[in-house]
Formats: sequence, C-alpha cells, structure tokens
Amino acid sequence: MEEQEVPLFMTLETMTLTDFLDSPFECDCGKSHTSDIKTVEIASGALSKLPELIRKLGHEKAFVVADSNTYGVAGRKVLEYLQASGIPHEYFLFETLEVVPDEAAIGSLLMHFDTACDLVIGIGTGTINDMCRFISHRMGRSYFIVATAPSMDGFASTVAPLITNNLKTTYEAHTPEAIIADLDILADAPMPMIAAGFGDILGKSTCLCDWRLSSIINGEYYCETIASMMELALQRTIACKDGLINRDKTAIGQLTEALILAGIAMSYAGNSRPASGSEHHLSHFWEMRYLFAGRKAVLHGAKVGIGTVIVLKLYEYLRNAHLDFEKIEASPTPAMDAGWRQEIERVFGPAAKEIILLEEKAGKNSPQQRQQRIGSIRKHWKEIQDVINTLPTASEAEELLLDTKGPSRPQAVGLTENTVKESVIYAKEVRNRYTILQLLWDLNLLEPYADRVAEFLYRD
Ligand SMILES: [Zn+2]
Ligand SMILES: [Zn+2]
Repeated sequence: MEEQEVPLFMTLETMTLTDFLDSPFECDCGKSHTSDIKTVEIASGALSKLPELIRKLGHEKAFVVADSNTYGVAGRKVLEYLQASGIPHEYFLFETLEVVPDEAAIGSLLMHFDTACDLVIGIGTGTINDMCRFISHRMGRSYFIVATAPSMDGFASTVAPLITNNLKTTYEAHTPEAIIADLDILADAPMPMIAAGFGDILGKSTCLCDWRLSSIINGEYYCETIASMMELALQRTIACKDGLINRDKTAIGQLTEALILAGIAMSYAGNSRPASGSEHHLSHFWEMRYLFAGRKAVLHGAKVGIGTVIVLKLYEYLRNAHLDFEKIEASPTPAMDAGWRQEIERVFGPAAKEIILLEEKAGKNSPQQRQQRIGSIRKHWKEIQDVINTLPTASEAEELLLDTKGPSRPQAVGLTENTVKESVIYAKEVRNRYTILQLLWDLNLLEPYADRVAEFLYRD
C-alpha cells in the first residue's frame, strides 16, 4: 500500500494519551521518542483499578506514602482497596499538612521504608510526588502516583525538586509506571489548585516560544511534533476553562491530560524545554525568595501563570522594538567581574555560589557568546518576529487566569515591585537555558524592560 502523508497536526488531533505511552516512535526530528509510563488512568472511579494495575504490572508488595491531607483525600481509600484485594502493603503517613521535601522528610521516609516492597505508591500531587519519585528511583523500586489535584505538571516528570541546605535542587528521578487520576477526587480539589494547574498549562505558550527562538538563534535541538503536541494540549485546555470553574469532570480530565502530556513531552525531548521556560525561571526565583524569607510557599502553577503574563508583556515590548543592530553589536558586554558577583550575592543570598559557578561553567554571559547570538538575532530578526506574532497578548492571558479565578498579577501573591524587577533581570541566571530574558540581555533591553513591566504591573 502506498504511504500517505498525513499533516502532523491532524494526526495529533486524533491521538489519545495512551498513544503516546510505552512504544517508541521515530520522529521527523531525528530522535526516537519514548516514555517509561506504562499506564495512565483518567476517569471517574479510576482508583478502584489500582489493585488490578498492581497485579498486571507484576508487583507484590506496595509501600504507600501520604500526608495527613492526601490521606483523607485518597490515601484511606487506597489502603481499603489494597486490603480488600489482599495485596500486601505498608504505609507511611507524614503527620504534617505541608511537608517540606528536605533531608529530614526524605530521611524519615527511608527509615520507615520496608525493603520487602517492590513498589512505592505516592498519594499526592506536589511534594509527596516529588519525594516518592526520588526515593523509588534511588532504591530501584517501581513507582505509581495517585493524583489528588490537577495543580501542576509534575506527575510524569523525570526529575525531583528537593530542598538540601535550604536550597532547591533538582535531582534525577524516574517517571511513574502508572498514573491514577480519579476524576471524582480531582474535581473536588480546592479551586485555587485547579486554577494553578491551568496557570501551569498557560505557561506552555511562552516556554514553547522560548524554545523555538533558541532553536532559531542557537541551533538548539527543537522538535516540531512535541511542540505541536503541547500547543494542542494548551488550546484544548483553554477551550474548557468554563468547565473548570464548574468542576465539570470532562474539563478537569482535559486539564489533567494536558498536565500529564507535559511530562511525556519532557521525556520525549530529553529535557524540560517543552514545559518550562522563562515563566518558570521567574517562578523559581520567587520561590527561592519565599524560601529564604521563611514565607509560606505559593502554589507553583499560580506563580507560573503570573510569570506567563509578565513574559508575554516582555514579548510585546520586543515585538514593537526598533532595533539598531549596529549600535547593539558595538556596545560592550557587561563584565562578570567582582561587582557582578557582589550583586549576585546580594540578590541570591545563600544560592549565589551555585549561580556564579553556573556562569563560570556555561559562560552564557561571555562577550563571545553574546556577539555570536546578536549576529544570529540580526540575521533571523524577521523570523523571530513572526514567531513572536503567534503569541497571545499579556491581557488575553490575564483574562484567562482571572476567568479561572487564579491570580494574574504578582502583587496578588504578595510579591513587591522591587522583587519583580529583580526577578526579570536575574532569573535568567538560575539555569543555563536560552529564553527571552537572555535575548533581551543580549540586546541591552533587559533592565529597561524590567522597569517598564514593573511600571505596567504596579501602576496600570
Ligand atoms: Zn521529535
Ligand atoms: Zn510547571
């Protein structure tokens, strides 16, 4: 039979989440994409399938982990199902409501772990998931996640953000073998968590743009299929925003699917590019500030949503900028000298050492790298503008966030104007990843735009 060319977007349109699991596919980008997730159950009553899944995937004894909140939401039921079906299990319950995923928490998990267990089941979406994904990986055990809220895209992630020496550090982990998302549970999640999940998905608009631009400017690896897959998930999620505030299960299911797809997309790409860009760097920066100040953490997706509005505003400024490339090329590159290091120490406090080390290794701010990038930006300026023109506006994103009852401006989560300005200027130092923030720095626009966006956010 003759092979037919099917437009990519049309194929993706008809694919279900299960089509993305397990079997590798050879992609036009040259990579063979795989994900280690074997099963995703998104449905009303999905939890009841847990014993069957455990048996199907060949596990014998489960170690169930919950905190006092997620125990009530799903943990108790999980233990009942295991009990009723005669599956041997142990469990560990964090007695606190908000577990900090640090040395102490990981330590107590390990101290209570029953080595006869070949499977870890995490009950939760945030820190419980992060810790279980990490310890199961370290101990060579399989991992299942029972989601309790559609609040962020960490379900299927391959890394775990943990806190060591009061610093957030990303550790290698593995994806869960099975993700159980019972819509009866997820639709009952607190509204701010649903809004946060929406914010995390909205952030895909800017991170995909950052990724595309880096491929144009730096020749970084980029996959059209993965980007389209996330773009489609984003559009579908936006389309069901009204259902989300009514806790409609189809809408909650769509949001959950998008959050899981983000994890699969990261596995496909081999890095977090398809799910995390400058909007996440801003969020990480704020989170660090909260942590240092001993303040209560704000939901990840809520911060990402706000970061997305800011980044879209920066893209708007850039889109309308008249650039004098000759002048930019002749302008000196700021020196990464003692003065710069002092400034980094002031802004990043205890995290400064690592930030400085990263710059020494990556040299992303070196005159050579900058000059090279300016040349590339100049050469591709029209193409760059075309990509930026596909983005939604900042006010469209704000409206979407407000429609889903999420915060849309930094002051809504207690961030000061000065912190926002500093985050726009310095968030690019937290990772060696090219985004609009580094692009604006290359063009000497980062500081003026930081002032401008802060003015817009706090005076408008
Ligand atoms: Zn590909
Ligand atoms: Zn995220």
